[in-house]
Amino acid sequence: MMLYIDLSIAHLCENNNINPAEEVNELCVETSDGTFKTLWSMNILPKWKLFLWKLLHNGIATKVNLGRRGIQLSVMCDLCGAAEEDIQHLFRFCVIAQQVWSSGTLGIHSELNETMSFKEWFLFYIRLFQRQDGKNSPRCTYFISTIWGLWLARNNRIFRNEATTVSVVFAFIKIGLDQHGILQPQVRPFVRHLHPPEGNITFPPGFFRVILAGVEDQGPISTIVIDGSWHKNTKNAGMGWFLENQHIPNDRILGGAQAGTSESALQTEVLACLLSLRWASQAGIGRVTILSDSHRLVELLHSDATMDIQLIWTLAEIRRTGKTFNWCCINKVDRDRVQDAHDLAKAASTYLLSFSNFPFSFSCL
Ligand SMILES: [Zn+2]
Repeated sequence: MMLYIDLSIAHLCENNNINPAEEVNELCVETSDGTFKTLWSMNILPKWKLFLWKLLHNGIATKVNLGRRGIQLSVMCDLCGAAEEDIQHLFRFCVIAQQVWSSGTLGIHSELNETMSFKEWFLFYIRLFQRQDGKNSPRCTYFISTIWGLWLARNNRIFRNEATTVSVVFAFIKIGLDQHGILQPQVRPFVRHLHPPEGNITFPPGFFRVILAGVEDQGPISTIVIDGSWHKNTKNAGMGWFLENQHIPNDRILGGAQAGTSESALQTEVLACLLSLRWASQAGIGRVTILSDSHRLVELLHSDATMDIQLIWTLAEIRRTGKTFNWCCINKVDRDRVQDAHDLAKAASTYLLSFSNFPFSFSCL
């Protein structure tokens, strides 16, 4: 039997270029904050991480550990009575653990390689599965949920006096796996096909737009022209916007400009859109159409599938602010149409110009 055991581990190691001692060392190297890098980078339930952390530091309340802390109790495993209840016994050698491991989908014979400490044994499998399946190996998840299930079943027996059977342990494993599954990012492989590919739709000139709120023909609409200007080298950004067709004295611009920094031209344009909507809201404008020369901005507002982390918040804020108007629409127009806004944005990004002017009626309030 022992011969088979050693061959089995050797076989695994050979097939995977693993030196068991080295592998365990690599995983056991604790970073300054005391974590095991590879393990903690896994996408698993936070409570599992906490549990594993305690487990790998032999800090969970097994009977042997409680006895070491001076608590008077029998340290023998109350399930099999064959050995002391330490983590090695509880999770590997106890008869119930052996049955659970060998009948589970991983087919692990936990009683093998008995000279390995629990930590070595645990990290060996994590490393093996990660090497073969990738960092978020499903087998790692199953492996961890099995240990978790054994622990819950044991606590259920000790604190609630409920029987521990293989099927009870598997019920706990399943609960853990279900909870794990809920936390995983929802895979939406077909989402792109549910929406028409907006970029390819042929819109009449001036009609590529997104309506964020309201019905169009229920009153006069204010038009705000926006643009962004971005310097790639310095990351300096300028956002400009102004209210169109307003007859006001002294060529005073009704609108604003803001200087800042941003990561891309697109981000700058998205910011310009948000600032213009906030300005319109402050100016007491109830119905507004924003003119932008960015096709991408309108496209992004059409779709919920933006994965660009730098834009998600701003786009969400644009949608939220847009909904506070009686009418709100973002309309893609030709570049020539936004020339004045472009000049404002350029001045903001180059000379760090920032200002905000509101209509007279607003300043009187
Ligand atoms: Zn036992």
